[in-house]
Amino acid sequence: MKEEKIVAIPGPTPVIEAIRQEMGREIQAFGDPRFVQDYKDLIQGLAELLVCDGQVFPLAGSGTLAMEMAVANSSRPGDELLIVSHGFFGDRFIDICRRKGRKVDIISSEWGRIVPVEEIRAQLDRKPYKAILVTQVDTSTGVRAPVEAIGELLQDYPDTLYILDGVAATGGEYTDMRTMKIDILFTGSQKAFGVPPGMFVLWANEKALQRRQELGQISEYYVDYQQWLPVMKDPARYFATPAVNLVWAMKKAMEIMRAEGMEARASRHRIYGQALQAAFERLGFRILAEKDHRTATLSCLIYPEGVEDTAFRAAMYEEGMVIAGALADYAGRACRIGHMGNIDDSYFIRLLSAVEKSLNICGMAVQPGSGLEAFKEALKG
Ligand code: PMP
Repeated sequence: MKEEKIVAIPGPTPVIEAIRQEMGREIQAFGDPRFVQDYKDLIQGLAELLVCDGQVFPLAGSGTLAMEMAVANSSRPGDELLIVSHGFFGDRFIDICRRKGRKVDIISSEWGRIVPVEEIRAQLDRKPYKAILVTQVDTSTGVRAPVEAIGELLQDYPDTLYILDGVAATGGEYTDMRTMKIDILFTGSQKAFGVPPGMFVLWANEKALQRRQELGQISEYYVDYQQWLPVMKDPARYFATPAVNLVWAMKKAMEIMRAEGMEARASRHRIYGQALQAAFERLGFRILAEKDHRTATLSCLIYPEGVEDTAFRAAMYEEGMVIAGALADYAGRACRIGHMGNIDDSYFIRLLSAVEKSLNICGMAVQPGSGLEAFKEALKG
């Protein structure tokens, strides 16, 4: 059994040494001018990376808290919201919004497919919505939403805020708030940023901040923009204790992204993601997401005939690769593998070699190296 385990689930993703070191640094007081400067740099850098003309909030908490923050600061109880769901995480918005007393309409796709943009338009024509909530990449299905087309469409509905869950996408799928016309975007540290879990980032543009102004007092405390705005403008101020080491780790991740370039980073994800998916298909898996709507950041893979989920994942574990099970109807029939963040060739080679071996252990006669061969062929184009 391989002692070293590579986390190949769709988040948390592997953490590289440079980022790990930031997590291990000796603590500083949050009022220490050195930390204040680091937090400022992070906020500024994140705004530039995603092209946000409003305010960035990198705060302690997981992606789910960011979902709450987005809903809480863009609508009041009783407001109408439209949820476009491509799977488990799209559905999570339904529960969050209902618990907060919002009225929701939901348009869902069959898992693996997208909701057609015309269907969204037809629904927006039926009644006015305060916001539309879309999951950029649904981690349960590996489906990428048509983010740009929805942004274009929303130009005809200027009172509807565009809220995008980028938890499994930001930093892997190319995203630019201005050209894609996104009003609120959020992500988690543990996905394509390649940082340990515990921090989310929410970007709110000017229009989204204006909406918050119009709401007056809201019942949420920790996630209220108004509590954090003075701190985000001047991190020497206190509202609640920042996650100091995560701020450093995120700053390092942000610098790595800036050096790589967001377009280059997205293109790296696309090229490697497509090559990996070609290799999985060669090995007999079926990819749940339809070809035109597959994300570059993760895959939900339906097993070849005869391969049993528990046995396959146990074999992968023995080979040093931790992968995830699938959700809902696909539990037991598929697995999920992440391919985002600060990973390189060695990740893909080890992954494919473990997949080939595990398939053999599960009774499939797979030629050693055949998956890797397909991967290399696809990379050559
Ligand atoms: N949205 C998406 C698309 C996700 O993948 C996840 C987590 N897998 C979440 C929201 C929730 O994030 P967290 O688990 O960090 O609360």
